[in-house]
Amino acid sequence: MSDQPAGAGRLIQHLLEDEAATVAAGNKLAKAVETVGLAQGLSIYLLGDLGAGKTTFSRGVIQAFGHSGAVKSPTYTLVEPYDIVSGAGRSQSIYHFDLYRLADPAELEFLGLDDYFCSSSLCLVEWPARGAGFIPAADIEVSIIEHMLDTSDGQRNARQIQLQAKSPAGDKVLAHMA
Ligand code: ADP
Ligand code: MG
Repeated sequence: MSDQPAGAGRLIQHLLEDEAATVAAGNKLAKAVETVGLAQGLSIYLLGDLGAGKTTFSRGVIQAFGHSGAVKSPTYTLVEPYDIVSGAGRSQSIYHFDLYRLADPAELEFLGLDDYFCSSSLCLVEWPARGAGFIPAADIEVSIIEHMLDTSDGQRNARQIQLQAKSPAGDKVLAHMA
């Protein structure tokens, strides 16, 4: 018997030894999304404390789609849009949200969310709980937590990542990541 509750989606867990590993995990998720294709858009929730690595992971996703510039944290703007045209001429819209500073979820109505969570766009959402009721449910939940790693010369700060499928579409993506 599996230790997952009935109906739960695929679960992937990984140790991320350093920042580069967090970026690489984001790259890997992006590649799986590209392989599966985005027929109806995909919503990814990023969970974890301040400084856990949510923006670092997002950078890995966004750059793997072909964005070559910086990926800054949209803490004050709430959302940063990326319209990426890949080498093959395919285009992909990615919206990176950081709802940390959102005082009231109703403020999201003024952002015109319908334009963001549309078919074939990829939405990465940091602090999704602050937008509860106003943002679509997650297809995948990514949780990142601090993890102390034992090394030959003492302990080192690393991370543990967990990706949990929350919809059939999310499960399909994680199946390609495993
Ligand atoms: P958040 O968006 O969750 O607030 P950031 O991505 O902005 O966090 O910052 C994460 C911090 O943690 C950065 O300083 C980054 O270098 C560091 N970091 C990211 N991944 C790891 C890791 N696997 N091990 C150690 N440090 C990491
Ligand atoms: Mg952040």
